[in-house]
Amino acid sequence: MSVLLLNATYEPLTVISWRRAIVMVLEGEVELLEQAEDRTIRTCGGNEFPFPVVVRLFNMVKAFRRGGKAPWTRAALRARDDNTCQVAGCSSSGTTIDHVIPRCRGGETTWENTVLMCKLHNQRKGSRSLSGAGMKLKVEPRAPKYSVVLANKAHPQWAAWLA
Ligand SMILES: [Zn+2]
Repeated sequence: MSVLLLNATYEPLTVISWRRAIVMVLEGEVELLEQAEDRTIRTCGGNEFPFPVVVRLFNMVKAFRRGGKAPWTRAALRARDDNTCQVAGCSSSGTTIDHVIPRCRGGETTWENTVLMCKLHNQRKGSRSLSGAGMKLKVEPRAPKYSVVLANKAHPQWAAWLA
């Protein structure tokens, strides 16, 4: 179970594990905004804790705020591309990551240069450019907002905080 972490400003920041969330609650770094209705956490000492769903930092984190863009990760790329091959006309699942400008030609692992592709399309493209392989993408790849990445794995109780 993941927990939605909000900035002090109530802006969604990222998703953390519930264990991490509990440590942060106990250390007074975050406040608990939403808890699971159907479960609690019991410690070996017999204490019961609410199971965190949404927590908010007491102190604002600035590092995350640059335009609300999510940092590149494989999981975030899968969320942006909806687990689907990004070649126009293809609806297969995007099981591989393609570098639009191939890495061997200096292409970097950035939001603008990576897309999900099905195995077939990735193999067909190989180390060619898109036009060289006669392919087009559905949309031009760019960095998603945090909310897009977060909404992809949203807990029903997160919805109000991601709006
Ligand atoms: Zn495909």
